[in-house]
Amino acid sequence: MPVGSTRLGFITRLIGFSLLLPLSQGQAGDLPASPPAIIRHELRASIDPDQHQLTVIDRMVVRVGGSQPTLDFTLAKSLLLDTVALVTWVGNVERLTPVSKSLGDDAIDSNLRSFRVSLPDHQSGDVTLEWRYRGVIDDPPREPRHLRFVTPSETSGHIGPEGVYLSSETGWYPDLAGSLASYALTVEMPGGWTTVSQGRGGAEQDCSRPRSDGSCLSLQTWTSGVTEALTLVANRFTVTTRDWKGASGQAVRLATYLFPDDAALADEYLDATVKYLDAYVPLLGAFPFEQFAVVENFFASGLGMPSFTLLGSGSIKRHYTQPYALGHEIVHSWIGNSVWNRPESGNWVEGLTTYLTNYYWHELIHDDRQAREQRRLMLQGYSLHVTPQLDYPIAAFQRKSDEKDNAIGYQKAAMVFHQLRLEIGDEAFWRGVKQLVADLSGRYADWQDLERIFTQTSGRELRWFFAQWIERPGAPAVAIADAMASPSRNQPGAYTLRVRLTREGGAFRFILPLAIAMKGSTASVAVALAAEQHDVELVVPDEPLHVAIDPDFMSLQRLKREQLAPVLNLFVTDQRKAVLPLFADSATPFKELVVRIEAQDAQAPTKHKTTILPMDIVALPPSGSVLIVATADRHVQVQSLLAKACGDLATMGPDGFRIAGTGYEGRRMAVLLSCHRPDAPGSVVTVLYAMDPAAAAKVARLLFFYGWQSAVVFDEGTVIKREMWQEFQAMKEVRRDEQR
Ligand SMILES: [Zn+2]
Repeated sequence: MPVGSTRLGFITRLIGFSLLLPLSQGQAGDLPASPPAIIRHELRASIDPDQHQLTVIDRMVVRVGGSQPTLDFTLAKSLLLDTVALVTWVGNVERLTPVSKSLGDDAIDSNLRSFRVSLPDHQSGDVTLEWRYRGVIDDPPREPRHLRFVTPSETSGHIGPEGVYLSSETGWYPDLAGSLASYALTVEMPGGWTTVSQGRGGAEQDCSRPRSDGSCLSLQTWTSGVTEALTLVANRFTVTTRDWKGASGQAVRLATYLFPDDAALADEYLDATVKYLDAYVPLLGAFPFEQFAVVENFFASGLGMPSFTLLGSGSIKRHYTQPYALGHEIVHSWIGNSVWNRPESGNWVEGLTTYLTNYYWHELIHDDRQAREQRRLMLQGYSLHVTPQLDYPIAAFQRKSDEKDNAIGYQKAAMVFHQLRLEIGDEAFWRGVKQLVADLSGRYADWQDLERIFTQTSGRELRWFFAQWIERPGAPAVAIADAMASPSRNQPGAYTLRVRLTREGGAFRFILPLAIAMKGSTASVAVALAAEQHDVELVVPDEPLHVAIDPDFMSLQRLKREQLAPVLNLFVTDQRKAVLPLFADSATPFKELVVRIEAQDAQAPTKHKTTILPMDIVALPPSGSVLIVATADRHVQVQSLLAKACGDLATMGPDGFRIAGTGYEGRRMAVLLSCHRPDAPGSVVTVLYAMDPAAAAKVARLLFFYGWQSAVVFDEGTVIKREMWQEFQAMKEVRRDEQR
């Protein structure tokens, strides 16, 4: 249907039903002189996907503190503003008085422009304005630019036959900076289209203009409490709902909005949502919304909105229900969408959400092995992706645009919450998390608020903690220089253990776990290490033989490259790297992989560019990391290049390979493995080895997703075995001190 006067006609009629009531006016004297803000939007929108067209009437209530004759609004550049009118009431009679508007600064944002609206004299208190505008929103999502880093597609907002996505960045309704408003939204769309927005959904019939078959127009409605911004999504969804009831009696309507092809996944997503609500409501308090929906998006995204999460179709199909995925988005309902954050003043939301989901979920279900693995990954991510030269304080993290930001704002920040928990104990930590949500819902919180709350719940002075971990960059690196034991004088059978530490990375006060192997038993001791402390003295019940630093990755330390288990990401982050292609021209997936690595490198400074090595080399270059991409016909050469680094961990043959003692044979097999180079500390040799490159096409395409394991074995692209090896154990033998 063409858009224009017909649509506007629909909207004009609708406005007659407006629920908006006159609000008291003229109380300027009672109000503080705060900046003007919109407190309520009543939006009536008509969307035509085929024409990319949006037509809106927005009745808004603006709280004008003091005398503010002019207000600077923003709106999308592509939208044409028809009128802005001041709405007043004389008794029950409504009067619309056009107000003057002029174009403001054009350069505030690439897709937004500002409008200056001048109110008539003496307008203060709450003022109702009616905006009428229409236009095209047509910014088709572009593929993300990063290959190794999952980022959402880029769009400022889009209306098209493939889907509708209107967010705060779109400027699809007029806004005043800093406004926190409630919303009532009514949308008309062509048949078959379903909208999703924030808050509670519903339907409304408009019978004033029946369709040709005599039926009434069906309108979709959404009402939301005060929120930072309103997102509207629409598509041809299959909707499935389920009711969740919490132990406290709270009821939440759960829903999935999936494309018909994926509708069979609804139960899987609803089951997972139930599982996460069951787990996180006791930790965080009542769920902050009446509804929660999993919504499939027509472009790549992983967005947590108040009361729904918007996930790209690719993610939905890949069963994105894991704690780091759906769990993470659900916890954002509390952390980020109920308690808000201004990223410009420090983003703590991602660190805490990552801690609660990506990590803590595994503790919650008592999977200690996976919990340890997550701590290892967080420390490894920080240590590899953030060199000391590029490090910055967590307080300066706003949002991620690369692996370094991710390592600081998500991974290191999550480990800081772990340090806080070790420091103040579980009881004070979890009470603090709950109090944070209870006290600050519907408000902005920053790091200072967190410091205040955890100080309260722990009864401890924590200024040093936040100054050290949040406001300073870096992390300590502690090693054992010497360990000595002597029989205790006071306790028969017991020993005094003295450990001398070397310290790098600056003065940090933290809890350092030490693992002590004694003659008949082992013990783990948490030492509260002062900022400059080098010596630790402990009394242990038996003769100590070995002592190791933090074997379970509990403390936040910077790990050295040579200390980490060898993985592909050591290659990726090496200052000096080379690729050795050992395959025939016909091995297309491998050729594409090498081309992709070269393209990825195009931006890198010359001295960090990846070298492509000649096929006939018989020895690895003397320094740096090397990625060998090889097919089985080159097994002799691969084996000889690997031997020194891998020893008997990996053996390559013409019909298969042996990895950590297990043999794998057949055309469908491939392996990605890394070993430390003993001759080049901190560097690795990594091999992608396939019996048949066609069977390894998927592996080659997704190679960099397997960056954190020492070995991954694939059967026709599916992972069948993962290995970690050559992990450095900072084990120190304890000397017997006979003089004491
Ligand atoms: Zn997040």
